[in-house]
Amino acid sequence: MFVNFLMATNVFDMPTSMFCRYLEFFNIERATPMQTWDQGTRRIYEKMAEPFMDKIYLNRPVRKVYREPSGLIVEDQDGNTEKFDDVIFACNANQTLMILDQPSFLERYILSSIRYESELHNHTVIHSDASILPNNDTKPLTTRSNYIEQYGARPDNYEITYIMHNQQPWASHSDKPCLVTYNATSKIDEDRIVKKWWFQHIVHDVKHLVFLVPLFGFIQGRKHTWHCGAHTLINSQETCFVTGLAAARQIGAEYPFQDAEARKWFNFYGRMLYGWRFTKARATPLPKQTSTAT
Ligand SMILES: Cc1cc2nc3c(=O)[nH]c(=O)nc-3n(C[C@H](O)[C@H](O)[C@H](O)COP(=O)(O)OP(=O)(O)OC[C@H]3O[C@@H](n4cnc5c(N)ncnc54)[C@H](O)[C@@H]3O)c2cc1C
Repeated sequence: MFVNFLMATNVFDMPTSMFCRYLEFFNIERATPMQTWDQGTRRIYEKMAEPFMDKIYLNRPVRKVYREPSGLIVEDQDGNTEKFDDVIFACNANQTLMILDQPSFLERYILSSIRYESELHNHTVIHSDASILPNNDTKPLTTRSNYIEQYGARPDNYEITYIMHNQQPWASHSDKPCLVTYNATSKIDEDRIVKKWWFQHIVHDVKHLVFLVPLFGFIQGRKHTWHCGAHTLINSQETCFVTGLAAARQIGAEYPFQDAEARKWFNFYGRMLYGWRFTKARATPLPKQTSTAT
């Protein structure tokens, strides 16, 4: 648990109260059963984007965003420009600051105050080489969510392997082990590597949670500019997803799910992000079912 947070949010700076709350969720001894989407979150994004897929640009990095009274101009990496009504920044705070032309004093202050860790626990290997896991009584390959190996004297000298086929029910049907290793010091067979990746990750210190997160409310929506992602709330996949939905809701989108419990949490986080200005999600009637006689 400690290593997990060391990696994702730098546990040395994390408020203890937050760490304790996380402990309520997870079972450290066995793989935590999770509710997941069949074939991963990619499926849900594809389904949500289906009606406007032709309007989405992928692999087109943004270089600069210039704001004007009536809207904004987005310039891509190749220098092409397009006009838009609003922008939602879903990249990291330091990346937003680089992209945003003439940020206000408050925007500059908030975005530059978010701390990132870019050297510690940032290298990731996705692979199927189970030889890096021990074949002992704990049987990590079949029972555990992750396996941790300490390789040095420093408290952060860990190699950690997530055993994804034990975490994600749909991945358990795979004919190969589904493994993700961070901070790899063990030798991983190159032929079994699917991808290597690099992250910077947010440092969830007390200043961030207590001071900077509420300050975002003062810059959201100013000059057609919105912000979402880990730095605007809490560093976890679900909450980051919710911050994106909440920003979309603020500029007029409907909340896209029917589940009442999920909607309750969406409104809870929305209020936290936007205060009284938040447009709460409403229960939307299900589309009428049509049946065909055969
Ligand atoms: C090692 C590690 C392990 C983690 N494990 C877990 C876990 O087990 N469970 C959990 O809930 N959370 C976990 N997290 C946290 C979770 O992954 C993050 O909170 C979440 O992914 C952050 O989402 P985000 O949208 O803020 O940023 P990101 O997911 O980082 O997305 C930002 C995107 O912006 C894009 N971008 C950047 N610059 C530009 C540009 N100029 N133009 C266009 N696009 C750009 C980037 O390519 C990137 O895709 C982990 C994080 C790390 C680093």
